[in-house]
Amino acid sequence: MQIGRWNHQETGGSDYRPATGGTETFPSRRPQVGGSFDSGRPRRGGRGGFDRRSPSRPGYSGAQGRPRRKTGVGAFGETETEISKFVNRAVVTTEEEPAFMPEHAFADFPVDPRLKKNIETKGYALPSPIQDKAIPHVLTGRDVVGLAETGTGKTAAFLIPLIDKVVKHMALGERERVLIMAPTRELAVQIERELAGFAQGLGFRGMVAVGGANINPQIVALRNDPSFVIGTPGRLKDLMERKVLSLAGFHSVVLDEADRMLDMGFIDDMRFILSKMPKERHTLFFSATMSREIEKLIGEFLIDPTIISVKTRDTSKNIDQDVVRIPRGADKLDVLVDLLQDRDFSKVLVFGRTKYGVEKLAKALSRKHIYAESIHGDKTYRARIKALEAFKRGEVTVLVATDVAARGLDIPAVSHVINYDLPSTYEDYVHRIGRTGRASLKGKALTFVQG
Ligand code: AMP
Repeated sequence: MQIGRWNHQETGGSDYRPATGGTETFPSRRPQVGGSFDSGRPRRGGRGGFDRRSPSRPGYSGAQGRPRRKTGVGAFGETETEISKFVNRAVVTTEEEPAFMPEHAFADFPVDPRLKKNIETKGYALPSPIQDKAIPHVLTGRDVVGLAETGTGKTAAFLIPLIDKVVKHMALGERERVLIMAPTRELAVQIERELAGFAQGLGFRGMVAVGGANINPQIVALRNDPSFVIGTPGRLKDLMERKVLSLAGFHSVVLDEADRMLDMGFIDDMRFILSKMPKERHTLFFSATMSREIEKLIGEFLIDPTIISVKTRDTSKNIDQDVVRIPRGADKLDVLVDLLQDRDFSKVLVFGRTKYGVEKLAKALSRKHIYAESIHGDKTYRARIKALEAFKRGEVTVLVATDVAARGLDIPAVSHVINYDLPSTYEDYVHRIGRTGRASLKGKALTFVQG
């Protein structure tokens, strides 16, 4: 591990069972076996049936430089010329980016030594930019707005100081309870996994309260008075209305991916939940984007916050983006199957627009002996987690997903993202392709364009 660089190691045990359906203490972590991703191998060229254009070929209209921002449903380019404005055929180089030099080492933070040990055990050598900047403020008890997306290490940026807070209160014989709101079940589970790693041997409990899972075990789990409740707004509200979750004793709250929660229509639930929390509380707010509505929410929910903005991932550098032109009359499925034969396509996330389409595509691929799993909103929580885990472990090479289901997912070493259906907005495009090229690996993103 290089000194002075935020050097990612794949961590997080695949054997850890989420606490959905039961309050759990945290079992031991096993290192995750991440698939290897060889970005340096040349692509197989000259495939029949479609024309994957590159700048070197005549007719390519790919723009170099940063993609142009387009917003609004339907604003996403439908023609190749329009698409080429945001599909950035980045040149994949092996050149090292200048190393980020954090101001702090984890050892500098005044947190419990056992927590420091757990951070080390997780393989975190140095704080990521958001951790470096946010942790000192959160430790002083200030409200913080973190403008950072998944992949920046934002989860640990709020978990580390909040775990320390819980532990310090415990040492004084007091209770500190933390509520974490996240837009999707998968993100909630991911946060809890990260928590599990940091919380080894610290003697407190955490639980996940998400929709799509049986509510009864969650009710039982809440009776054990966990220190961390991580949930989606709808289920949290439901538990509150059933009077099994009272937030009067929760003095810390994290709104993770607040912009996404807003997009998903959770705003009323978020307001309801926050209105039942103590007025004097510690509020942390994370969002990948800043908009007028987000600014309004910050004004509404936080008091004099410190605003920290980080941008560690430049998509144009880490992700090689390209368009796959589907000639008129050609079958998109055949083109996809053809691509997936290539051994370089080792861990492929395919995006479809609708739940129905995603399910149909996964089945069609499996029929063609490309074993694929799917995640979308019509699947049960259990089935989604099962599919995700199979993909993470490399048991299936292809995961077909909708935008909502894949939001915020942190899947190690995704080799390719394929936009089988065009995303609706530029934001969705950026979020989709951001599932690859993570943690200093190079990734490839292909967007299917029907000619
Ligand atoms: P997040 O943005 O919180 O979803 O984190 C993205 C990935 O980076 C996760 O797999 C984390 O376990 C990992 N990670 C977070 N912080 C660090 C760090 N300081 N060093 C190495 N890996 C990290």
